[in-house]
Amino acid sequence: MSCYEHSTKSMEPRTPGVIPIELKNGARVKANDVAPQGVYRPDYNILTPNMRSPEYVQMSTAAAITLGVTGGRMHRTSCTRCLNLLLTYPEGCRANCAYCGLARHREAERDYADRNFIRVDWPAVPLEQTIDIVAQDANPPFHRMCISMITHPRSDEDTVTVLKKWTDRIDPGAIPVSILSNPTTMTREDVKRLHGLGADIFTVALDAATPEIFDRTRGKGVQSPHAWKKYWEILMDARDIFGPQKFGAHIIVGMGETERDVLALVQQLVDLGAHSHLFCFFPEKGSLMDHLPATPREQWRRVQLARYLIDYREVRFESMRFDQSARVVDYGIPESELQTIVGEGIAFRTSGCPGKFADDISACDRPYGDSPPSNIASYPFQPNGNDLRTIRRQLKIV
Ligand code: SF4
Repeated sequence: MSCYEHSTKSMEPRTPGVIPIELKNGARVKANDVAPQGVYRPDYNILTPNMRSPEYVQMSTAAAITLGVTGGRMHRTSCTRCLNLLLTYPEGCRANCAYCGLARHREAERDYADRNFIRVDWPAVPLEQTIDIVAQDANPPFHRMCISMITHPRSDEDTVTVLKKWTDRIDPGAIPVSILSNPTTMTREDVKRLHGLGADIFTVALDAATPEIFDRTRGKGVQSPHAWKKYWEILMDARDIFGPQKFGAHIIVGMGETERDVLALVQQLVDLGAHSHLFCFFPEKGSLMDHLPATPREQWRRVQLARYLIDYREVRFESMRFDQSARVVDYGIPESELQTIVGEGIAFRTSGCPGKFADDISACDRPYGDSPPSNIASYPFQPNGNDLRTIRRQLKIV
């Protein structure tokens, strides 16, 4: 058995359990029908209000702190540059992705608006209040806004409404908008409509690096509706409609794929004119993969570095070399050049849609979305000298 087969098998999700009918489809929240009052902070000890997009959206804890609607402090960073808005419904996301805290199987355990997602709580905030705060700020901290769709029959229509309401008040030239799409419910016409309404970048959360892992973690393997083929169709629609550098894909590293698998996909995306946004697998509490190990840091750092070289430094995947376990052993550039790029530190920052600092610096910094602050995977800020020493140790480049 090769290392690859071993790691693929060992990253097997749990099987989703049976959900009692009285807990399906947000029934508990709809039966209680508590009227929302302003901002709702996830709290499992009180009844979850009946909140629904487009009137309500959820946002990351970092975005809520930056917006000023919740208190709190973040380790070594004071704000996020991306306002991530997540559509919300009592029925929640109807998909069942194995690594995701929002997945459908959790309806037995936790109401949708109370579920943790990429390691943090997502407060629910009235959309109008959110737009008011940003519109009234002469110098808003956000470099970008992102609407994250979920798998829900209302998601396509409500994304359009949120985008329209936002662009009615806020110039998309000043704060560009990204769409994190849900291809399963979308058509090419939906992609065109979002582009026509002023969306700047369109991304597809492939998440899995190979069709097999996709199927196992977010398709038939976990009774989830997604299909690799449909995701690629919408990605190709985005390529035609949004154009080069204005579309991309999310990839989670460490779900059983090899380093070569991920980097071949990164190159394929670059050749299409797209960017890749990487996430380090973290066992999200309550998900079907919460019993599995986080991605080893050395694997993650190698993939981060190689992806940065392919995506922003025109190094080609074919010039890199891999060992028998498909791990990167040569990045395809001279050692001195490699040392310089490692020392710049940008390769190890959170990857995502760009903000106003530089093309290769993401607005979307997702503080501690894929690791605890004690062992940072994606740096939500510029790594300092100590951080770079840690990174070099993890890369085994001294
Ligand atoms: S579609 Fe997105 S939000 Fe829904 S379960 Fe999958 S990863 Fe989570």
